[in-house]
Amino acid sequence: MDFEALLAARLDGLHKEGRYRVFAEIERHAGSFPHATRHADGLKRDVTVWCSNDYLGMGQSPKVIAAMHEALDKSGAGAGGTRNISGNSHDHVLLERELADLHGKEAALLFTSGYVSNWATLGTLGASIPDCLILSDESNHASMIEGIRHSRAEKRIWRHNDPKDLDRILCEYGPERPKIIAFESVYSMDGDIAPIAEILAVAERHGAMTYLDEVHAVGLYGPYGGGIAEREGLMNRVTIIEGTLGKAFGVMGGYITGSAVVCDFIRSFASGFIFSTALPPAVVAGALASIRHLKTSNLERDRHQECVRKVRSRLNSIGIPCLPNPSHIVPVMVCDPVKCKWIGDILLDRYGIYLQPINYPTVPRGTERLRITPSPLHTDSDIDHLANSLSDLWSKCALARQVA
Ligand code: PLP
Repeated sequence: MDFEALLAARLDGLHKEGRYRVFAEIERHAGSFPHATRHADGLKRDVTVWCSNDYLGMGQSPKVIAAMHEALDKSGAGAGGTRNISGNSHDHVLLERELADLHGKEAALLFTSGYVSNWATLGTLGASIPDCLILSDESNHASMIEGIRHSRAEKRIWRHNDPKDLDRILCEYGPERPKIIAFESVYSMDGDIAPIAEILAVAERHGAMTYLDEVHAVGLYGPYGGGIAEREGLMNRVTIIEGTLGKAFGVMGGYITGSAVVCDFIRSFASGFIFSTALPPAVVAGALASIRHLKTSNLERDRHQECVRKVRSRLNSIGIPCLPNPSHIVPVMVCDPVKCKWIGDILLDRYGIYLQPINYPTVPRGTERLRITPSPLHTDSDIDHLANSLSDLWSKCALARQVA
């Protein structure tokens, strides 16, 4: 078997479809986000980053950086083991307490990423609860889909953000059947928000457990940064709230929060938690500082929303088609994989704007887009430059404008 040829042919397929991923080589500079240096062809160029998930710029917060330095100097680089075998520091325990408090839950459990927290938790629950049925929103993230698949539990997919469809499916099963409803609050590619209250009402009617991924909402919504469920006063009705420390909190890691029993169960049975080195103490200390800051400061959230409003209104005024949604994500629809990649490349090479093109399989074919994530740190002149550059390229590509 010529394995190399087989793999190369698959890669070739990606090239032909225009969806081969090329990573931009970006050097972030603490203190100047969203401005960064791009390395390409042996040259360095300034770019403005418009597609970061460090939504609030907390990755360069002086408080976060100071906490990380202090922990690094105090404890060294790595955790030195799994949580069970020497890797459980005092900071890990404090961070879990802080996360439980953030979501109004009894307990929390840390993982090395949001991906692992979804995969390990859904995988473990689905495999451990006899005859478990998992109801998954059709737009759920790959980490949830993989966790559910790994569990080998029966899965039913309900229409995206449609509680009626969820109810229709649940009516096929009796009350004795154990059920988990898995969904997200903010969907990261379309930026739409789940009708959480209605979904919870359906879940309660059918006696189902609920699993809510707030990865794109924690830090950003709610008076303390607890996410959409906090903003809507619903946290106590959700069984498990999952989040990341790598996006709005600006560091790295993932977590779940829930009852003491649920967290203890995952801690005790999830292989993706048990058999993996704990997060480094410096990462944990940085996340702790970030969460604590965002619990008491609304400045970043207010400025973030203000920048989102400005970007949307500027793009609308020049007819650049953005998907309307109630969140902080501004998807600019190109709907052509080749043009989408071309615009992304030209923005980077000629306009100094880094806006990663999003193609299939991250989004369905025909809905290729540029996903803009404004931050509290983008200035009016950054917004002007972005809007003018997109306007130029829209004309060059003969792409349709949206009539306001
Ligand atoms: N859940 C959702 C909805 C996501 O979009 C992502 C990542 O983008 C994850 C989970 C994984 O989180 P992390 O980046 O911390 O692994």
